[in-house]
Amino acid sequence: MRAACLALLLLAAPLCAQTVAVDVGHFIEEPGATSARGRPEFEFNRELAARVERAARERGLGTRLVGEDGFMSHLARRAAAAAPADVFLSVHHDSVQPHFLETWEFDRVERLHCDRYSGFSLFISRKNRDIRHSLACASSIGRALRGAGFSPSLYHADPIPGENKPFADRANGVHYYDNLIVLKSARTPAVLLEAGVIVNRDEEIRMRPEETQERIAAAVAQGLERCLSRKRSFIRTNE
Ligand SMILES: [Zn+2]
Repeated sequence: MRAACLALLLLAAPLCAQTVAVDVGHFIEEPGATSARGRPEFEFNRELAARVERAARERGLGTRLVGEDGFMSHLARRAAAAAPADVFLSVHHDSVQPHFLETWEFDRVERLHCDRYSGFSLFISRKNRDIRHSLACASSIGRALRGAGFSPSLYHADPIPGENKPFADRANGVHYYDNLIVLKSARTPAVLLEAGVIVNRDEEIRMRPEETQERIAAAVAQGLERCLSRKRSFIRTNE
């Protein structure tokens, strides 16, 4: 299969586009974090993942959107749905450790927020079967996000309970999160993106406009394209 693809690559690269599986983090029944204004993380994830999928497709990558219907409750099914892809990217939005959350009132409802952290984070697992390319893609995505004006959050490496996730690539905001099931069980290189901290009141506002989401999606797609083209040239020179 790969040899056939490589032969085709030499003649007609578009026929063998590298494929990215873009996973919508969480599902309707368990929607993840809740933003400072009460919006479920799943809704942020679904919007952004769809934009990432489109941006990647427009760059000529093959794409597969996983979990967009909101009913994918089994992690194993996510891995299976993503299996044919060359890289798996799970799209999430971030919260903080519970003791940092404070109350405030929004629309006459008491909500939780924390304004001390902001920015994106990327995670990979050393238990993934292809750590080398997982790291290459995470670093490439982080580099592209920085190039688009976004900053890594860095707080997940803090030496406190619940964090302590060591840097794999500090400059590009990449951490090791070895036991995250969706990363370690993936059959492909796998990266989890926390696009921004939605319990931060200002960051939630910053993340909502279509224009911001498009900038994030374009950067992520650029990062994916770059790491996949490097992976392809690595395979071509080593087989
Ligand atoms: Zn999440």
